[in-house]
Amino acid sequence: MSKISTKLATYFFLVVFIMEIFLMYHLHQNMLNTRVDEEFSLLLANGANHRDVLVENFTEMTIEHIVLMEKNGNREVMITNREGAVLNSSAQSTKLNEKYESLIHNLHNEEDAVIVSDWLTSPYIVSAHPYEVNDQQTGYVVMFQNTDSLNQMVDEMNRHFIISGVVILIVLLIVYFVLSKILTRPLIRMKEATEKLSKGDFNVSLPVLEKDELGELSSSIQKLANDLNHYKSERNEFLAAIAHELSTPLTYLSGYSKVAMRTELTDEERNHYLQIIGEESKRMQDLVKSLLDLSRIDETSFTVSKVYFPVRPFLETIYKLVAPSYEIKEMTLNLICEEDFQLFADPIRMEQVILNLLDNALKYSNPHSVATLHAYKKGEQTILSVTDTGIGIPADKVGYIFEKLYRVEKSRSREYGGSGIGLAVVKELVEAHGGTIEVKSVVGGGSTFQITLEES
Ligand code: ADP
Repeated sequence: MSKISTKLATYFFLVVFIMEIFLMYHLHQNMLNTRVDEEFSLLLANGANHRDVLVENFTEMTIEHIVLMEKNGNREVMITNREGAVLNSSAQSTKLNEKYESLIHNLHNEEDAVIVSDWLTSPYIVSAHPYEVNDQQTGYVVMFQNTDSLNQMVDEMNRHFIISGVVILIVLLIVYFVLSKILTRPLIRMKEATEKLSKGDFNVSLPVLEKDELGELSSSIQKLANDLNHYKSERNEFLAAIAHELSTPLTYLSGYSKVAMRTELTDEERNHYLQIIGEESKRMQDLVKSLLDLSRIDETSFTVSKVYFPVRPFLETIYKLVAPSYEIKEMTLNLICEEDFQLFADPIRMEQVILNLLDNALKYSNPHSVATLHAYKKGEQTILSVTDTGIGIPADKVGYIFEKLYRVEKSRSREYGGSGIGLAVVKELVEAHGGTIEVKSVVGGGSTFQITLEES
């Protein structure tokens, strides 16, 4: 019995079956006792009735009448005198007198009583009703009730109980099979589905079940399969994109290194090619560094350790770090931080985030434009924003820019030198801080990246 469904159904079957036997036994005994008690009461009532009539008018005639009343029935009556001799009897044969002779002679009860009550084995149940008319005329009215009809009734009742017992057993067996099937089918499907998943086949489709534990388990497995499928295709796309990203600089590297090796080149020309090789190597280095960052974030092998630190000196340090690059491009970078409040964040990670955003603002802006780094408090929240007046992002592309390796215009990537990983890292880092990042952008008008951090 290895299937859980069979186990459950068997337990259910056994419990109901035992309950049924117990209840039926109880019912059977109850009905039987009631019926037998009824029979005893009837016999006692009849006997008492005859005795009362006899006491009222003790004559031969009355005795005759009483005997006559019980003729041809299931009951017999005998009337005895003080010596125990039978004055009259309704029994046709003398067999009854002979069989119960000693019993009749030795009656001593002073109240009406059932003196033979064993209805199961004895052919009669017997009751004795003492009468006393005067000192001379005493004795017993003895009643005999044939037990055949009682036994017949009991046999009949037993037969009914057996039939209903068998019917209930059959119904229970049907319920047992149906129940084990109903429970088994979805479980077997789920087992097959998980086996498929473990073999790496994520194309699983489980039917939607009712909202019970089994249904929830089934939809969890389905969700797991869908997620795994999604991750699988995402991983494939990601790997393809990385391969593509790496192959471009590698093509340049091998191509330009061959060109640089030509003997007929002038020093100036060779330097030019070597410079390109250097730039491409730097691009690959940056890409690999970003990929490493990303993989560390994905594995959550880093932790953000948030501390309180003053925001203004923090931002001024970053400003000084990037200002030379802005000057080279003849761009203006403004830092607005009117209130020097305490920032609750991981300073190293937050610096990485802001540097990335400032780097993008620089890359995707034209010379002589303006970029602004702004920090302020809004109630309990801290807002950090980087605004540029650069090329902007088309509305239909804004939704994708935080995805790994996504770039708005791939052809322009060489011109701007991006790898499409920066914003993915930024988003992961901001979310690791419990914060959010939003972007608003107008093509040709510029972009604003806004980070919202909660106090705790
Ligand atoms: P990249 O290394 O290409 O800059 P990011 O993940 O940082 O990668 O950015 C993804 C894409 O989003 C970029 O390729 C660029 O097209 C767009 N983008 C990011 N920042 C800006 C910005 N300030 N202005 C315009 N476009 C931007």
